Amino acid sequence: MSLPLPLPTIDPDTQPFWDGARRGALLIQRCRDCGRPQFFPRPRCVRCGGSIAWIEASGEGRVYSYTVVHRAPHESLVPLVPYVVALVDLAEGVRMMSRVRAADSGVVQIGAAVRVAFERVSDEVTLPLFEVVGP
Ligand SMILES: [Zn+2]
Repeated sequence: MSLPLPLPTIDPDTQPFWDGARRGALLIQRCRDCGRPQFFPRPRCVRCGGSIAWIEASGEGRVYSYTVVHRAPHESLVPLVPYVVALVDLAEGVRMMSRVRAADSGVVQIGAAVRVAFERVSDEVTLPLFEVVGP
């Protein structure tokens, strides 16, 4: 018996992000005033307090750091073990934490080139994750 995967709570600040993921687009925020990119989603720019716009990220990035999870923190994740959780630096200049999908966790290395992929887990939630595309 397995439990359902705990899913993120979608609120007005994050709704555009999840709407984007459902159609296969990785959305981040950019300040309309100072131009700074921002992730995770927040109602205002954390640097200058300016209003934010949503932009589609390229989905290209590099692994800043990672860990291989051998002991699932939730029963629903047991079938995935071992799996990789990484901090990914997107080309646009923000860092996000995500799973890296890999048949062999050994292919994930610091500095590896990754590209976003999407995994639909419910009607509302499609999770962005990454795949290794180069050294
Ligand atoms: Zn700003």
